[in-house]
Amino acid sequence: MSFDDSSQLDASRVGSGGGRGRGIAVGGGLGGGLLLLIVGLLFGQDGIDAITGGDGQDTGPQTAVEQERAERCQTGEDANRYTDCRMIATAQSLDQFWEDYLPQATGEQYVMPGVELFEGQTNTGCGAASSAVGPFYCPADETAYLDVAFFDELQTQFGAEGGPLAEEYVLAHEFGHHIQNQIGTLGYAQQDPQGPESGAVRVELQADCLAGLWAGGAAGDTSGAVDLGDISQEELDQALDAASAIGDDRIQETTQGRVSPENFTHGASAQRQLWFYAGYRTGDLDACDTFSARDLNAPPAL
Ligand SMILES: [Zn+2]
Repeated sequence: MSFDDSSQLDASRVGSGGGRGRGIAVGGGLGGGLLLLIVGLLFGQDGIDAITGGDGQDTGPQTAVEQERAERCQTGEDANRYTDCRMIATAQSLDQFWEDYLPQATGEQYVMPGVELFEGQTNTGCGAASSAVGPFYCPADETAYLDVAFFDELQTQFGAEGGPLAEEYVLAHEFGHHIQNQIGTLGYAQQDPQGPESGAVRVELQADCLAGLWAGGAAGDTSGAVDLGDISQEELDQALDAASAIGDDRIQETTQGRVSPENFTHGASAQRQLWFYAGYRTGDLDACDTFSARDLNAPPAL
């Protein structure tokens, strides 16, 4: 059980690829002195080599995929059955939460990010990207991009248990980057891109914390069109397990057989869990201030 069955989905919230890019051409990856920033769930600058250029063309008002999805994804029951419908419901739940929470916490109005579910590869405002980079957020077009096939990889390749909140966490993390774009913390990732206490790691851990903030705030809130329902201990554990599965130390150990903190970009497994939980438990944006935290292993709010 996750979304309440009676939840009303708005399939038009989510596109199917091509996005709403603004035609920012990015040639030759990182070359040419162009600053290129995408922030993903998994990889640092290394992951960006999949981006080689792109024209950010919109694929049109409604594709066949979107039409089919609109027919299939209508209620909370559909969201609990189909992963893409779940992403629609999750995006709506995130909108509901941040629309309310952000002005209250910061005085800033929430601007809805785009959400594009793509297959294989897509054009974005940050250039062309393939699924190999994992889910990511492009600040140039303020859009979160995700290939739902990633959720299988999360289990098979990264060894996560899976589960509804684990999948929802992934999109909530990308929305976290969007919130950071709005409140002005996202840029630290680029200024200081690598290392165990780098700006990048602090940005990523803050995005995890913002994901937790949403989960804790949206759970049990029945006021909107979409109702996330209560979060069971099992679901919470699965989300924490997903956060742990994509920690830098875990990924490095698997892919290169050793851990090199000097190359950290997202934070260690334990840190990702802790910061998600800090947001979840406190419901307090201040608890997500990873930039003032002296010890990233010990969020002050916990
Ligand atoms: Zn991220």
